[in-house]
Amino acid sequence: MTRFVYLFREGDATMRDLLGGKGTGLAEMTRAGAPVPPGFTITTEACNHYSDTGEFPTSLWDEVLAALRDVEQDTGKRFGDPANPLLVSVRSGARFSMPGMMDTVLNLGMNEEIAASLGRLTGDPRFAADARRRFVQLYGKVVLGIDGARFEAVMDEAKGHGAREDTDLTETELSAITGRFLEIVRAESGHEFPDDPFEQLRGAIAAVFRSWNGRRAVDYRRLNRISDSLGTAVNVQSMVFGNMGDSSATGVAFSRDPSTGENVLYGEYLVNAQGEDVVAGIRTPRPIAELEQEMPDVYRQFRAIAAGLEHHYADVQDMEFTVERGRLFMLQTRTAKRSAAAAVKIAVDMVHEGLIDRETAVQRVEPSALDQLLHPTLDPIAVASAPLLAQGLPASPGAASGRVVFDPDEAVALAAEGEDVILVRQETAPEDFHGMVAARAVLTARGGMTSHAAVVARGMGKPCVAGAGSLRIDAAAGRFTASGVTVAHGDVITVDGSTGEVFAGRLETRAPVLGEDFHTLMEWADEVRRTGVRANADTPADAEMARRFGAEGIGLCRTEHMFFEGDRIDAMREMILADSVDERRAALAKVEPLQREDFVGIFRVMDGYPVTIRTLDPPLHEFLPRTPEEQLELARRLGVPAERVRARIERLRESNPMLGFRGCRLGILYPEITEMQARAIFGAARQCLDEGVAVHPEVMIPLVNTVEEFVRQAEIVRRVAAEHGVSDYLVGTMIELPRAALVADRLGAVAEFFSFGTNDLTQTTMGISRDDAARFIPFYVEHKILPEDPFQVLDQEGVGELVKIGIERGRSARPGLKVGVCGEHGGDPASVAFFVGAGLDYVSCSPFRVPVARLAAAQAALSASGEASKGLAA
Ligand code: PEP
Ligand code: MG
Repeated sequence: MTRFVYLFREGDATMRDLLGGKGTGLAEMTRAGAPVPPGFTITTEACNHYSDTGEFPTSLWDEVLAALRDVEQDTGKRFGDPANPLLVSVRSGARFSMPGMMDTVLNLGMNEEIAASLGRLTGDPRFAADARRRFVQLYGKVVLGIDGARFEAVMDEAKGHGAREDTDLTETELSAITGRFLEIVRAESGHEFPDDPFEQLRGAIAAVFRSWNGRRAVDYRRLNRISDSLGTAVNVQSMVFGNMGDSSATGVAFSRDPSTGENVLYGEYLVNAQGEDVVAGIRTPRPIAELEQEMPDVYRQFRAIAAGLEHHYADVQDMEFTVERGRLFMLQTRTAKRSAAAAVKIAVDMVHEGLIDRETAVQRVEPSALDQLLHPTLDPIAVASAPLLAQGLPASPGAASGRVVFDPDEAVALAAEGEDVILVRQETAPEDFHGMVAARAVLTARGGMTSHAAVVARGMGKPCVAGAGSLRIDAAAGRFTASGVTVAHGDVITVDGSTGEVFAGRLETRAPVLGEDFHTLMEWADEVRRTGVRANADTPADAEMARRFGAEGIGLCRTEHMFFEGDRIDAMREMILADSVDERRAALAKVEPLQREDFVGIFRVMDGYPVTIRTLDPPLHEFLPRTPEEQLELARRLGVPAERVRARIERLRESNPMLGFRGCRLGILYPEITEMQARAIFGAARQCLDEGVAVHPEVMIPLVNTVEEFVRQAEIVRRVAAEHGVSDYLVGTMIELPRAALVADRLGAVAEFFSFGTNDLTQTTMGISRDDAARFIPFYVEHKILPEDPFQVLDQEGVGELVKIGIERGRSARPGLKVGVCGEHGGDPASVAFFVGAGLDYVSCSPFRVPVARLAAAQAALSASGEASKGLAA
């Protein structure tokens, strides 16, 4: 018979799928002899059964009762017995940590009689009254689904609207508050609050199961690509109390600093408080270092346990603890979420400390997280003269500017319109999650470094300033004040999550500086990587950036981008408007020296590395003015009749330009364009060779459908190369149409390399316009009609199959054919893993994605060799 309940001492790290992260952490700590309050875990299988049927598995409740008896024996208390009551917490805990996304109920097992008795037993009736107040509030919200604001309003009123703290409330006041809570429950749910502890437990377990499919949990899973089918485990644990006076406390701490990676115990705690007070940010907690003075023995014991756990897991731990009347209890340990900078530093440090090897270090850093390191920071010069609005805690690194919004739904709506927004809240709660996803940064007035806002923003790699206490937010009136300045909804502010500073207006940003640890980790990645990484770069400046990020050449230089610069566009327009070949040649002659100059710059930067240059690709009308006024202006500048410009534009108009007169079709009809570009390329190559620069041009023909198209274009390129006496070069084709992939054997016979243009290949394989996809792809992804946006993450089943066919057929004609990819997917970690598996020689992506691709390619190589060695062992 399937077992659904495990005591903590029965579990271990191998049971993560069944017991979830929190459950295995508690089990491992129990086994390691750490002081863990006894309890048990209900498996994810029970949750899945509940999600499918709406009911507990038949045997579950009996198993729960049996486990509860065991906990009673361990603690010497009894559940539901006023004479010596056992109270429990009921918490979610999925396979992957989803901080704050699901529900928790504390102090469960109380009613009026039990609270009174607990007051007598502990000699602290105020504590007992507070514990019950908290329980009714949480249970009412989480299990009975009553709007939490109803309870908050009662609390707020009792505290004189901010005049007093929670801890100032007396026993009598707390009991009166509980009475009002019970009335709210009666009015809202139409039922009495359940007084039977067993009924409470059943309800709480079901509520945690249900929270797996709650909105924030679903949103979080979508963002983090966690499967919906895993389910959550439920941990039922005997309560210990951090709110039993000044010798009690509760806190959260990391074994190293999760923002910087520095090897110091890092965290915060609150005296006389329960766990949710720290996370909810209701009171601003104190740094963990102060615990050393306040409770030296507890601090020493905690530090030793933290070090032991870090060693045991060989990774940084994020731990929750409670001190009950001077006694330390561990409530949770899990792998700590960390900023990208911290991830890199910790991985490198741990290799130096002998805790992990280099390959493990390479696998420890999420490739997409590197993005954070590469993001701009504020220009210190701009900061020096900027008006500082507020100073909060540096909760999540990075800087961003945007318009102030107070409402998460509005953040989503404005972001969808392309606005940069900063979500400003008193404090965030899990139900604000969608607004945080949409915002560029988050700013809160309350809460500490482990508040919900801080933890969630760090996980997303989003700048966050938390606990900016001087902010006076009046969300209803649509404004906040700080430092005597009123900032209205819609005003622009700048948030620096690395320093905790908030500024009025938009500030200049600076390119990031990459530290030594970053380069060390990248070197280790390069040691195991087997696939090349190039960059898509169109200018010498881009090329330089690409080299700095470690690109081993250029995989795509889109020559048309060069035409958009400055007044070059006029010569280009003249060329397009030309009525005869001679006129066109005359216009092209003006563009040629400018293109050649750019190529010289790029070749010099890429000295010794290959540079792939693509001939003209986009539809010609993209270069022409749109409005009648602009058309008139152009006619005036070129000295031609306005009517001629208008008529020519009319003739170039296409119903479906993406599938129209573009790509190599331009060079086929106007071979003089290809010829000019070839002259610019090989003229530049000749000049650089003469200067002693090692030049390896790879000329690439776009949007090729047929062998004949390629042959015609390649003939021009080869003739011009010979004229310039350049012999070390290649002519290849892009594969961006399904037909090209299917006839790749014939193309491979004539082309010297392939580069998959997966942007167009996705468009043409799926029949989804690149330009119009945004209208329906988000709906498709939300409703799981597509797993991802196929223009970001390669559709492996369809487009990927064509990539495999293209490689196989191409190499059948030309063994060892060099094959790369230069669509956006070249910088997406999941797609890179696919390309590595498919046997591509290199991926090419934007310069900022180069480190991401290097790391992703290294990880793919490592997991491939892991699979291979598993295969050998079997
Ligand atoms: C592609 O289609 O994938 C490609 C790289 O070309 P572009 O995006 O310029 O069409
Ligand atoms: Mg393309």
